[in-house]
Amino acid sequence: MYKIFTFSIFLILGTELFSQIKPYGFCGTSPEDQLIIRDRMFQNREKMDKLVQVRTGAIRYIPVNYHLAANTDGTGRMRIVNVYTNLCAINKLFEAHEIQFYLRNINFINNTALYDDPSSALGSAWCNSLANNNRNAVNIICARVANKPEPGVLAFYNPGGDYIVSGIGSVNANGTTLAHEIGHFFSLAHTFYGWESTTYSCNTPTPLTVFIGGQSVQVEYVNRDKRINGQLVCKIAADGFCDTPADYNLGFGWNGGCVYSGCAVDPDGDTLDPDERNMMSYFLSCLQTFTTEQVAAINRDYNGNHRNYLKAAFTPQNVVPSEINIISPIDQSVTEGFNIVKFQWEPVPNATHYLVEYGETSLTNKNVSFITKRTDTTLTNLVSNKRYAYRVFAYNNTHFCHAIMNPISFVTGKFSVSTKDITTSIQSINWYQVSELELEFNVNSINAVSSNIELFNMQGKKVFSQYLNLQTGANQISINFPVKGTYLYRVSSTSGALSGKCLIL
Ligand SMILES: [Zn+2]
Repeated sequence: MYKIFTFSIFLILGTELFSQIKPYGFCGTSPEDQLIIRDRMFQNREKMDKLVQVRTGAIRYIPVNYHLAANTDGTGRMRIVNVYTNLCAINKLFEAHEIQFYLRNINFINNTALYDDPSSALGSAWCNSLANNNRNAVNIICARVANKPEPGVLAFYNPGGDYIVSGIGSVNANGTTLAHEIGHFFSLAHTFYGWESTTYSCNTPTPLTVFIGGQSVQVEYVNRDKRINGQLVCKIAADGFCDTPADYNLGFGWNGGCVYSGCAVDPDGDTLDPDERNMMSYFLSCLQTFTTEQVAAINRDYNGNHRNYLKAAFTPQNVVPSEINIISPIDQSVTEGFNIVKFQWEPVPNATHYLVEYGETSLTNKNVSFITKRTDTTLTNLVSNKRYAYRVFAYNNTHFCHAIMNPISFVTGKFSVSTKDITTSIQSINWYQVSELELEFNVNSINAVSSNIELFNMQGKKVFSQYLNLQTGANQISINFPVKGTYLYRVSSTSGALSGKCLIL
């Protein structure tokens, strides 16, 4: 058996703080960034307006990476299972538009600065670095919150770094928050663009222009045929689409459900009738769909050269059955010992990955979960005479929407079983430099074992930590270092560890 791991210790590129003004506590994409996004849509339309956008019946598959941040000690990470339910919900929203997202990778980053506030100077530098190191998919970075000083911000798209950030609370079975951000990613502005920093009032005359990020924006009219200086207003005002009706951010603070019946009028005195279901509006509990022009803009942006990295050839994989036949431990069993508990299940047809989730007594947010390509794993960190729950979820990059099995419950034995094969499981570690800032570690293990690799700088500060599901035999672990120097490494399981010094010259 030969297993290859690749990890990066991301280089912090800079500490420049990008200005973000987010007066409304939902989408945190800043006014300045909205301007950049809309300009890209206008440029795409100018360049590719002749491009015929027709429904082909063929589904366009777009890769997505989820980067699940945690504190440096590995705590706080969102439940992995929420990635599947979230992307599944997003796909339902895009289904009618012949777009589907596939799971390119789930990445785990233990870094408190990133986890705690991805909008801070340090946090956003890490986001940039993550996105730059993973230009093979739409990058979604999931942190404790999206913006610590503004807890109302659920998520945002950063066009400079070309990544999406979401608070973990929004990575859930309601895909609208991230579908909205994916809309921004593919050049869509808010339907109410221009009104992000201005509150509409029925008590004052509707202005002809509003200001956002220091830029003047033409106010949109209800009448779709309205022209100013010969120019069709709906094509240049607000989001630049004529099939999204005028909206002066009327969804924000609206409590009347999904039918707006307020007093807003345009500068001609016509009453506004916004599209409450539009994904790029702020009728947040009503979001459902994109319009034809919005989808055309998404497709143009996808077709642009700057999106070539999303176009790798992709063949959808076959359906994965939701049923898993567990071999051990079986439901309601008592394991032989507590210190070496082998989990095993039968291979599931078409599955490429398995999520294993376990916790004490029942499955909660305090679960441990990890992903493996194997059909077994051995845990060495359970305690004696304790009830545990666990479950396994089989999936591949195209199929992750099926039901997850009910948890299986077992009690660990009271006594330890021989740890001989565990203490000696990690036989040797060799490392060598493979490129300027990359070391490869070869870890030889005589059995399959859950373990952890950690790296420390010479001040003793932990700079890297990663869970490893070692296989029997050689395991190859590639790690990218931010800077040259001397480091200490340690590969450990609960019953033993090997450590040493490594150099990157
Ligand atoms: Zn938004």
